[in-house]
Amino acid sequence: MSSPDLTDKERQAVLDVLNTPMLSIGPKINEFEAAFSAFSGRSEALGVNAGTSGLHLIVRAFDIGENDLVLTTPFSFVASTNAILFEKGIPIFVDVDPKTGNIDPVLLKQAAADLTAGGEAAKRWLPKKGAENPGPLKAILAVDVFGQPADMDAINQVAKQYNLKVIEDSCEALGAEYKGKKAGTLGDCGIFAFYPNKQITTGEGAMIITNDKKAADMMRALRNQGRAPGDTWLSHTFMGYNYRLDEMSAAMGLVQLERLNEMMEKRDQVAAWYQERLKDLKELELLHIAPETSRHSWFVYVVRTAPHINREQFAASLADLGVPVRPYFVPIHLQPYMVNQFGYAPGDFPITEDLGARGMALPFSSVMTESQVGQVTDAIRQVIADL
Ligand SMILES: *Cc1c(COP(=O)(O)O)cnc(C)c1O
Repeated sequence: MSSPDLTDKERQAVLDVLNTPMLSIGPKINEFEAAFSAFSGRSEALGVNAGTSGLHLIVRAFDIGENDLVLTTPFSFVASTNAILFEKGIPIFVDVDPKTGNIDPVLLKQAAADLTAGGEAAKRWLPKKGAENPGPLKAILAVDVFGQPADMDAINQVAKQYNLKVIEDSCEALGAEYKGKKAGTLGDCGIFAFYPNKQITTGEGAMIITNDKKAADMMRALRNQGRAPGDTWLSHTFMGYNYRLDEMSAAMGLVQLERLNEMMEKRDQVAAWYQERLKDLKELELLHIAPETSRHSWFVYVVRTAPHINREQFAASLADLGVPVRPYFVPIHLQPYMVNQFGYAPGDFPITEDLGARGMALPFSSVMTESQVGQVTDAIRQVIADL
């Protein structure tokens, strides 16, 4: 489905670390963070060992706790919602814009108004169970889905009106821009992730960016077993975690970040090859890029099967021809543990469910060749011909 894009420079950088005694809490993490500060223009950058742990740190730093409400999207990778659940907060789902798959700002505004009003109005947005004692609405956790920034101006406007923190999950959108501004810098706190299928990789890893020095200091303590500045190795001011990023990963990430533009251009090329070969097919819808997205950063190449096509059958036929595809995303509210905890049912978020039922990620990476793209699209054409 995907492949990392590595050169001898990354291999050498990791090897150089292995020739020192400092495999964690060394100079490379500091360099990697400084590089991200420079890249993003945010004063604070914190390397962590995964996007999921980074999101958890942000939730804790913003003091989101038991029964606190957070507006978020059900059309995402589960980690964005799970970070809220780790602290017993209640994710309040808002359906998405059918074109982009990003949270719908009109619904978001309505949800914030209704939840603030409380009573019957608020009930419309609360899950059927698991929210018997709803606390205050504290934050919006928006996700930049598939490498396209959410409508952050509209989101920030709602946040300002209702005094909410804005967390921007840009784990899929490193390098993307919204109205000329970098994804990840558009809310109070942003995060990028570096699993091997992301725009850059460190194996596992992620980077939090913010201008909020107080939150950053808290997150630095929490990622390092709750050690506040001045704490010795065995003294822990807070209950923390080990969410540190190791030196090998940081060294690799430094090289990958330097190569980001080159790899984004290669991804643009692969996406353009797909687009060229698929755009005439009425059986597939291609990703819509909103006018506010001044730079799209291709993460996955997702197509939607037209409503009259059976996606499962389509995917199975492609698999028979040796082409792997994945449904993207399975809606979060319909994951078994969410149904169990909150009583969600099909029909609760119809747009998310429609996109989830028709979305299909094709093999995609910056190292794909034109002929590999051709193999995939030939297989797609053959499946369509056989329908
Ligand atoms: C990849 C991703 C994450 C982070 O995942 P990790 O595997 O923990 O690094 C978080 N949110 C979204 C939307 C993602 O796609």
